Amino acid sequence: MTPKPIAIVGAGLAGLTLNRALARHGIRSIIYERASASPRHNYGITLFPTTYEPLLSILDTSLAAFTQRVAVDSYGSTSGTGFLDREQLLPSTVPPPRSMRVNRAKLETLLTGDDGARPDVRYSHEATGIIPSEDSGSASLLLFKSVDSSSPVASDSPAGTESHAAIIDTEGVHSSLRTWSIGHIHNVPSVLPFVTIRGRRRVRRAVFDSKYAPALRGSKAREIKTEEGVVLGIYVDHVNDEDVGITWIYSRAARLDTTVPDALFQPDRSTSEASRIPDAFFDEAKHVLDTDSVRRDPLLAEVFDVQKMRNDRLLSWLMRSVDLEIEQLRQAYARGVLLIGDAAHAQPILGGEGANQAIADALSLAEHIAVHGVGGLGEWYETALLRWEASCQRARRAIFEMHEGGSKGNVRAAI
Ligand SMILES: Cc1cc2nc3c(=O)[nH]c(=O)nc-3n(C[C@H](O)[C@H](O)[C@H](O)COP(=O)(O)OP(=O)(O)OC[C@H]3O[C@@H](n4cnc5c(N)ncnc54)[C@H](O)[C@@H]3O)c2cc1C
Repeated sequence: MTPKPIAIVGAGLAGLTLNRALARHGIRSIIYERASASPRHNYGITLFPTTYEPLLSILDTSLAAFTQRVAVDSYGSTSGTGFLDREQLLPSTVPPPRSMRVNRAKLETLLTGDDGARPDVRYSHEATGIIPSEDSGSASLLLFKSVDSSSPVASDSPAGTESHAAIIDTEGVHSSLRTWSIGHIHNVPSVLPFVTIRGRRRVRRAVFDSKYAPALRGSKAREIKTEEGVVLGIYVDHVNDEDVGITWIYSRAARLDTTVPDALFQPDRSTSEASRIPDAFFDEAKHVLDTDSVRRDPLLAEVFDVQKMRNDRLLSWLMRSVDLEIEQLRQAYARGVLLIGDAAHAQPILGGEGANQAIADALSLAEHIAVHGVGGLGEWYETALLRWEASCQRARRAIFEMHEGGSKGNVRAAI
């Protein structure tokens, strides 16, 4: 009998990596993804060498070929480097040596198998629950609904004929299977006390070459902290002959210890409210950015020009984190689902290493399944937990330390 496939819920970094790594061991998996097509995450993420080196063998490629495909500054036949200059980053966010800034969309395209690997990804399939198998280690049935009217899957119907050897949840920070299997948990995800506004801008290549490149000195990211303790970051997302995509961030500790509520800290805002930026932000930015250190720095003056910032694609980011107890992970597994990646341990975007941990989870889990099979998969948590704890602690320390200081108070007590 053909072995049942493993169901992977979510075609993000963890899901795509797991699928590729399992295929390398000859193990079949199917990815169920809510989105109707591969999403375009056209932004840069920092990959550590301990993350991308093991990926090379899974993808059967060399470091040079990998860099050519995914570095933020690679395009066409031009090979970039994804170089990060440690001296241009805040001390708490400096990644390990040889870390590389890669474009997430390009990395996902590579993982999706445009090199011929062709994974089985079922788009427009939103997981809603699981029917656990009666006998442990056997198939569970994944429930999902169609999120695309043109799809043949009937809304809210069971997955039907195909049951699965195991169900791996890689749905990310807002995992529905986590809620389904453990229930709503107070403060999961939690929101850390920071106000972070993100802007995205396309800069003409000539402007980038004359104003940005000299200040960046080859680095694909630069960060500083103002006297007021506001973190300003500039990150290269992608490059081509015509233009360069950049992300900037303006981030500070939330003001929780004053009698006047912080108008910019909205931990309970809905996802759709993320793009509504209060005027209070521009008023504040005008004041914070009108200093000699910003005005005299050609790059900062160019990027953090409040008029230009207003025209950028703006979002207010929440610094979310997911911290689960081992008992909760075991409870989810007892109900038929193994959580990995952000679904199990999301970290704040700033200072976090969620992509690195999601990929590490996927590689380590595939190895475990290849050696031990899918029976007793919950034991894998024991091997992952120490790595998660160390990483989440680093991430938490990094975000608090990067915002520390300035005249607006000290946030260290909250670490
Ligand atoms: C702008 C930005 C910059 C970042 N920079 C870095 C960085 O420099 N370094 C770093 O390490 N990390 C970084 N991160 C964090 C990193 O991107 C995440 O930690 C990582 O993507 C987590 O991977 P994942 O596979 O667990 O989840 P995700 O990548 O979130 O993937 C989850 C997938 O599941 C799908 N899904 C959700 N619900 C369902 C459902 N019910 N049914 C089916 N499918 C579903 C989603 O559509 C999605 O495709 C950054 C994040 C952002 C947003």
